[in-house]
Amino acid sequence: MKSQLHDAAQSAGRPDPALLAVSKRHSAEAIRELVSVGQAAFGENYVQEAADKMQQLADERSQIEWHLIGHLQSNKAEVAARSFDWIHTVDRIKLLAPLNKGRDGDTALNVLIQVNIDDEDSKSGCAPDEIDMLADAIAGYPNLTLRGLMAIGTLHDDAEKARPMFRRMKELFDELQMKHTTVDTLSMGMSGDYPVAIEEGATMIRVGTAIFGERT
Ligand SMILES: *Cc1c(COP(=O)(O)O)cnc(C)c1O
Repeated sequence: MKSQLHDAAQSAGRPDPALLAVSKRHSAEAIRELVSVGQAAFGENYVQEAADKMQQLADERSQIEWHLIGHLQSNKAEVAARSFDWIHTVDRIKLLAPLNKGRDGDTALNVLIQVNIDDEDSKSGCAPDEIDMLADAIAGYPNLTLRGLMAIGTLHDDAEKARPMFRRMKELFDELQMKHTTVDTLSMGMSGDYPVAIEEGATMIRVGTAIFGERT
């Protein structure tokens, strides 16, 4: 996986992106195996499912960086802020106070704003014109660090069709980076479309199936 990633980045003339291994519906043992070969960042979609694995992997806590990549309900935000290192799915103001509270007294929580770039009804994420408002609000909370943007590409049979969306995300990311110096992460690209996402400037890709195999 690392070498495929490297090749895609090289041919696009971009630095290698960070690899987030998406472990939803895979076991703690599968995660442990990857940790043993040096993978540190893992993405989970559900707070409770992740909590179970975190418990089983408590002895590896210092080796693992946990990322929440699924939709976050506001009543789970405080708990999520305590257990995760990153939240990719901040898309509304209402989440910020509980996230900040859950993190009190600890290192700052890394936060990405999820953007619903193609305006799909079925997807979470803020509208592109809400990014600035959310970013300014996040910057006002002492326990939250704004790291960038996240988007989920529309599933196409042809990854090429996601290119315009990834390109638009990169423009939004560049604009945000000019306003907020803590911004360094553009999370986009999954098993089906990560080479295109890398070509368009993803700095972190979220890959499940291509690493762990099909989810059961
Ligand atoms: C499941 C999931 C992924 C990984 O998907 P694969 O197609 O298995 O690589 C990435 N991002 C999000 C938000 C997901 O829910």
